[in-house]
Amino acid sequence: MNELSSQGWFCDQTVRAVMAALAQNGQEPRFVGGCVRDSLCGRRVHDIDIATPEKPQTVCDLLESQGIKVIPTGIEHGTVTAVLNDKTFEITTLRSDVSSDGRRATVAFTDDWLEDARRRDFTFNAMSLDRDGTLYDPFNGRDDLAKGVVRFVGSARERIREDYLRLLRFFRFNAYYGKGTPDPETLLACTQEASGVTQLSGERIAAEMLRLLWATHPAKWIRLMQRHHILEPLIPQAQDPHALEMLCAFEETPDALLRLAVLIPQGRASVEALVKRWRLSNAQKQRLLNARAPDEALLPHVTIEGLRCYLHRYGGQAARDQLFIYWAEKQFSGIGLKEQTVLSEIDGWDKSPRRFPLAGRDLMERGYAAGPQLGEALKAVEDWWCRQGCQADKAACLTYLASLD
Ligand code: ATP
Ligand code: MG
Repeated sequence: MNELSSQGWFCDQTVRAVMAALAQNGQEPRFVGGCVRDSLCGRRVHDIDIATPEKPQTVCDLLESQGIKVIPTGIEHGTVTAVLNDKTFEITTLRSDVSSDGRRATVAFTDDWLEDARRRDFTFNAMSLDRDGTLYDPFNGRDDLAKGVVRFVGSARERIREDYLRLLRFFRFNAYYGKGTPDPETLLACTQEASGVTQLSGERIAAEMLRLLWATHPAKWIRLMQRHHILEPLIPQAQDPHALEMLCAFEETPDALLRLAVLIPQGRASVEALVKRWRLSNAQKQRLLNARAPDEALLPHVTIEGLRCYLHRYGGQAARDQLFIYWAEKQFSGIGLKEQTVLSEIDGWDKSPRRFPLAGRDLMERGYAAGPQLGEALKAVEDWWCRQGCQADKAACLTYLASLD
């Protein structure tokens, strides 16, 4: 037993059953990637990647022979997903990169573990662990992990040119595991290769950048990327990350999209450019627009009636996002009692939002014909209900309606 083989996930019966199924032909599979790395530095293991010398079709046969469900996720690249007892495992046949165009590598299957380790990005991502708990660490990734050094396997420049996503992964992994500042030579390679990221799809950029922004102290790394001209091709309109730093200090829970919002300037154009480049979803777009280009701004010293009115129109998330951005930009260092009161009101609204008690049919029952006049009257009552702090009940609204005539 060592510190790796005593870990809960390593001893788990489901995990062991998948490994045993893969080993049936005598070829030992190994754990690779994040589960090995995170176990070594005491982080929670959130997914399990396995590598094996067996070819993809054999992998499927071996798993299925033991009643394990297989999804051929990327079988042509050598990856399948095994599902057992609601747990999923990514299983990849050992590979070596044959050629690469900066986005996608052409791979060949191999049975050589060292070849497979060489194509991986960083030394601490090239480690593997067998079923007995033996660690294979061909590039001293364990030492680098302990020192907080994110080191490319081989030449940084060459590895980035093979796949520009690695440049983003370099900063993402630094944000989670890095201590101190990366070495100047690697930073220089990143700067010189930065324009290559324009080849990447928006989805891949967004996924990596949002993970970077989700780290505990993303501002330090965003600033470093900015100073070294690496952020420009990713978020051309990015502002100084000072407000991001502030937001991270007082936000309630890490929220990558809100952190992104505070990094870009106010206004529709900056949101739309980013949404287009990163191919963000409609929901993400709407949230960024509400935060950065709102139809109506919410100020923190708003009255309670004004706040409820805003909540009724735009919802709790838009209100919270706007306030957090305002506080971050005004360099608030913490949430005080006043701010807490506003946030509690928003939380309360989210739990039980107040609904405007009238609908078109209430007006029709009172003689209004369907049409613009009905719409105007309904809106007048709704505006009044908002001004009153969204509290008036149906009877009060009807009384106000009657007073309109
Ligand atoms: P996490 O799942 O926490 O993001 P991970 O290291 O498991 O961390 P994955 O994206 O799941 O990351 O990839 C699994 C492994 O595959 C990595 O540890 C690395 O060895 C290799 N890998 C992934 N992407 C690349 C890449 N672009 N270039 C080289 N190797 C990569
Ligand atoms: Mg993983």
